[in-house]
Amino acid sequence: MLFYTVLILFWGCTRTGSHTRLSASFSVNILTIASVCQCAGSIMSSLSVLPVECLLQPFPVPQRLMLGPGPSNVPARIAAAGAQPMLGHLHTETIEIMNQIKSGIQYAFQTRNRVTLAVSGPGHAAMECAIFNSLEPGESVLIAVNGIWGERAAEIAERIGAKVNTVVTSAGGYFTNEEIEQVHIMPVVFFLTHGESSTGVVHPIDGIGDLCHKYNCLFLVDSVAALGGTPICMDEQGIDIMYTGSQKVLNAPPGTAPISFSERACQKIFNRRTKPISYFLDLSWLANYWGCDDKPVRVYHHTGPVSSFYGLRESLAILAETGLENSWKRHKEVAEYFHKGLEEMGLKLFVQDKKARLPTVTTIVAPPGYDWREITGYIMKTYNIEISGGLGPSAGMVLRVGLMGCNSSKANVDKVLEALAEALKHCHKSRV
Ligand code: PMP
Repeated sequence: MLFYTVLILFWGCTRTGSHTRLSASFSVNILTIASVCQCAGSIMSSLSVLPVECLLQPFPVPQRLMLGPGPSNVPARIAAAGAQPMLGHLHTETIEIMNQIKSGIQYAFQTRNRVTLAVSGPGHAAMECAIFNSLEPGESVLIAVNGIWGERAAEIAERIGAKVNTVVTSAGGYFTNEEIEQVHIMPVVFFLTHGESSTGVVHPIDGIGDLCHKYNCLFLVDSVAALGGTPICMDEQGIDIMYTGSQKVLNAPPGTAPISFSERACQKIFNRRTKPISYFLDLSWLANYWGCDDKPVRVYHHTGPVSSFYGLRESLAILAETGLENSWKRHKEVAEYFHKGLEEMGLKLFVQDKKARLPTVTTIVAPPGYDWREITGYIMKTYNIEISGGLGPSAGMVLRVGLMGCNSSKANVDKVLEALAEALKHCHKSRV
């Protein structure tokens, strides 16, 4: 149909030649035709790169149940908040929204830290913000690697010329405080992933803050995949820098990353000898932009993602209404219900130690004899549910199912258990 419309318009455009020869009544038509021609692929345009035809059609995005390790589904209330009218990123109302986001993050993190804000970017941006600001070239960092996020942190730290030391455990494992203390290195920063989404482990945190402070070291925690779904209290547990992502338990779209810095961390960061490598992620700038410093005015640093701030504010409001403890409890109960269902089906959980199982992202041993890709593909095609395979050290070894925020419900568990059972019936199984 569109092809014929374009053909007729094209005929009209070429037949008419120059506007000067047109009658008055026809000139209205030709103007319409010309503007449609422009929209329909710049037929009259002298440009050499034309828009592709598909770009001129609406793109229908399907409804899908997002039970992978993130992003999670975005509830209508958060999506509606994000669709509110645009404001300037330094307008009074935007600043008020940012202030409310800061308070929401302080509640979610359980911290009174003044320097608490949301980085404009995904979890990786917060990760780089934490590492770029807290470490100077040549300084030593100790990174606990029990999955891909420790590996990534090590690579980021290496790139800025830090002295990187790692302590590594096998996928599915974690470290005791004694094991951490036995690493005879005096780092400036110790990095640990709270919820390892690649392996499905929730790392114990108690006592590590004290241990770090005993050695005058900053304790840096990645809680992208765990925050809001399992207990963590930044101040009480002596965490100096912590960050998360918007798209997991918080159920906001990806693209903003809450982060907080203790006074101890700020002392170190604001007295650096060298400037952080990234202008965009420089904490002095960000702290001012978020009104966390003593300066009377907020200076333009970058254009914050205003619509994403509306969404993030709403997601933090939902968490506040739900209550952190209720959220932790629900994630735990739903995860245990899921784990029981999996074991009843004869599937095995990847993390042996029950108390180390991350309630937000479950890792299931890839069913022997099956190709995991066929299972995830079948579930997507037949049930319109996303679940995923492994990542980094767990690649090829596991299936991963995320039950985060509004997706953490027994009804969703029932759906995914049914989908898995059907997939195991219908996917090819070789003899093992
Ligand atoms: N850390 C952890 C524990 C994560 O699970 C993720 C995202 N899967 C990230 C960091 C990176 O977040 P993003 O993809 O938003 O950059």
